Amino acid sequence: MPPARKRHPSARLSPARSWARSLQRRRPKLTDDILSGLASLYGTPAWKPRMDPISELITTILSQNTSDINAERAFTALRDRYPDWAAIEAAPVRSIAAVIKSGGLAAQKAPRIKAALRATRERSGAYDLTFLTAMEPLAARDWLTAIPGIGPKTASIVLLFCFGMPLMPVDTHVERVSKRIGLLPTTASLQFAHDAWLDLVEPKRMYEAHVALIRHGRGHCDALRPDCERCPIRQRCRFVDRRAP
Ligand code: SF4
Repeated sequence: MPPARKRHPSARLSPARSWARSLQRRRPKLTDDILSGLASLYGTPAWKPRMDPISELITTILSQNTSDINAERAFTALRDRYPDWAAIEAAPVRSIAAVIKSGGLAAQKAPRIKAALRATRERSGAYDLTFLTAMEPLAARDWLTAIPGIGPKTASIVLLFCFGMPLMPVDTHVERVSKRIGLLPTTASLQFAHDAWLDLVEPKRMYEAHVALIRHGRGHCDALRPDCERCPIRQRCRFVDRRAP
């Protein structure tokens, strides 16, 4: 189980968080019903850290705009080429880019990796992100997103997967499914989506919600050909109504 987390502070609510709270008041069982429906199909995942935080951050940077397989290949190449994180931080951008080219967008990702390592070392004295656990989740997200090339999705992946902080990484699957079932407005931006999810689910269910939406987006709720006939949450889905002739 991830560490117990309280609700995010509600001072100075953004329009997205106000929208989400309004939805929760109007349809208080919506998220729970959706998660229960998806659990009947995919089970309920148990949270556990999958790698150390700095490796998670670098892997997530490498996964931007490419597949997990390409990102893992680039990460392995990086660790094989350099003896430690200090050597990567000290290496020229061009050299790092050559090593991680299998991950795509290497010229952009190499300086992001160096910046992330430098910021971490300067803050903690090591390549260690565990100082983030002493922060409130939104402050930790702000710290990470201040690093060039790290957006709310990358930051939320690190904070949710490594520390169990209740932040939703909104990738293409989470965004599409959330909009189809009505947990986000169809016109919501990614910034809106990341903010709204702070108030769309109980903090202790954030990891479960993230994994369930990813699995559903990769499975039944395909972008082009969703399998609505066999979808366990079709009764809750606005998209089905819009598809009707
Ligand atoms: S009913 Fe169809 S569009 Fe709606 S969530 Fe299920 S698979 Fe996706």
